[in-house]
Amino acid sequence: MSTTHPGPTQPGPTHRTRPTRRFDDRRVPFPPAAVAAYRDAGLWGTRTLADEFRAAAARHPDRDAVVAAEGRLTYAELDAATDRIGAGLAGLGLVPGDPVLVQVTNRLETVLAWYALLKAGLVPVATLAAHRGHEIAHISRAVGARAHLVEHGTRGTDLVAFAVEQAEGHPTLAHVLVLGAPADAELPAHAVRLEDLGVDLDAATARARVAAIQEGIDPDDVAVFQLSGGTTGVPKLIPRQHAEYWYNARAYADALGWTADDRVGHLIPVVHNAGISCGVHAAATVGACLVLTGHDLDTALPLLAAERTTSVLFGHVHYRAPEHPAYPALAQHLRIVVLSGAKVSEELFAAVAADGAWVGQLFGMAEGLFLVTPRDGSAELRRTTVGVPISPADEVVVLAPGTEDEVPDGEVGELCARGPYTLRGYYAAEDRNAEAFTSTGAYRTGDLAAIRVIDGHRAVSIEGRIKDLINRGGEKINAEEVELLLLAHPHVVEAALVAMPDPRLGERGCAYLVTDGVPVTLEDVRAHLRGLEVATFKWPERVESVAALARTRVGKLDKKAMAAEIAEKLRGEGAL
Ligand code: AMP
Repeated sequence: MSTTHPGPTQPGPTHRTRPTRRFDDRRVPFPPAAVAAYRDAGLWGTRTLADEFRAAAARHPDRDAVVAAEGRLTYAELDAATDRIGAGLAGLGLVPGDPVLVQVTNRLETVLAWYALLKAGLVPVATLAAHRGHEIAHISRAVGARAHLVEHGTRGTDLVAFAVEQAEGHPTLAHVLVLGAPADAELPAHAVRLEDLGVDLDAATARARVAAIQEGIDPDDVAVFQLSGGTTGVPKLIPRQHAEYWYNARAYADALGWTADDRVGHLIPVVHNAGISCGVHAAATVGACLVLTGHDLDTALPLLAAERTTSVLFGHVHYRAPEHPAYPALAQHLRIVVLSGAKVSEELFAAVAADGAWVGQLFGMAEGLFLVTPRDGSAELRRTTVGVPISPADEVVVLAPGTEDEVPDGEVGELCARGPYTLRGYYAAEDRNAEAFTSTGAYRTGDLAAIRVIDGHRAVSIEGRIKDLINRGGEKINAEEVELLLLAHPHVVEAALVAMPDPRLGERGCAYLVTDGVPVTLEDVRAHLRGLEVATFKWPERVESVAALARTRVGKLDKKAMAAEIAEKLRGEGAL
């Protein structure tokens, strides 16, 4: 850990040769003046993520750090176990700065793995358990991944066999790490059971080894890569740095007023940005307990209730939770319910508020910016807006799309933001970076928003989006990425993927196709995408064969018209 910050702008020769600085020439740093301002204001710290966690564990050793179906760990236990595994990872020959693909679900060992990777100075790359060869091959080569962490015994695909296959012929992938495997499980040669790492080390040795590793890491080094949900083409990589990423989580916990007595429920994929920033890290910033579950309400709600969860984040797929028979048992403990990902109806807001909890909304993105409804905001503000920035240093503007002109309050434009935890550039993506930021470095979110002045707060309401993606229950499907894959089908001449409304998931993908005369069915499309090893959640769930795609008068694809048409059809079919 560096206690005096060397200033990321004057990277002397020793900086350049440090292994963790390997990403520097392909990323856009925060400007030096901004770095100084964020530090002077006490927003950014000078510790690495692993050292921040260590300090939290020292403050709250005997409190529960994490609870899941697999068991529970106190902060002291989690700290010691991750020292051991972290030192064991280093013993494999992995060195600080090595990127590690993380492809696991929500379980106790995922939190162990997360902090162990950080303690070893490794850089987790947050992929999804649902990703397949198409995504993993791209992501792993883009970052030069050195190891692939997968979960044992997942339903459907055998991720261990998948990881072994992915490593074959790969230029850098040298290790397959397996999480959640029973002690007697037979693993392929070269695959290592994560929980076994460092078992031969005593606690003091393990701790000293990870401490020495952390000494060599700068708080402004890349700590984690998150994936962008909403850019063009293949997913872009978002480099998150130690100090700014921890600050993001601390500011979120503060915005909600959490204390060490809170027990924080999390159902959304935990390695995703929301999982890390609103769950794993945010809980640790205040010494709260993370109660980790999967998406399935039948198993999630009873565990959250049994663990006396006080604060929970529900994504769109959980918006039906208040109707679930297990909800009242949970509701008696809840003091904070945060809803995120889609418009909140009056009925939903009223149903959650009826049990006495404070109900609010969150807008968040892996690129940075978080908005949360203020604790003292009126019910109207908390129901109709996603609130205000979580940091006093966030600069949020709404611009007329494609311009740098601010629109008047109340009018809809593109939400743009610059601040202490919002990226200044995607990794190795010059072309994309040239269009994704304003001339002053504000990130163009691709979301449509308006500023609403309510009770003296300048709160943001989300009004749609410019970016061409489908938000399928929180998983983002990049339309262009899927269209390019569809065009690789021998009989597809033109393709457009549009969002069709879905009561449970919010949106699902519908492919409008023009073919060369040979019909292409939904089954054909699925077989094609399976062959290309594309993650299933991206597969279109309906095909509309047309003679020509709808176009505007100037000849541009008219996705609005197609989306309206398919929504109308679904209504006619009684599906909505
Ligand atoms: P991700 O980076 O996967 O977390 O996705 C971020 C995107 O999700 C945002 O740019 C929005 O398009 C969408 N999103 C996040 N929060 C909300 C919300 N409260 N309401 C509507 N859309 C949201």
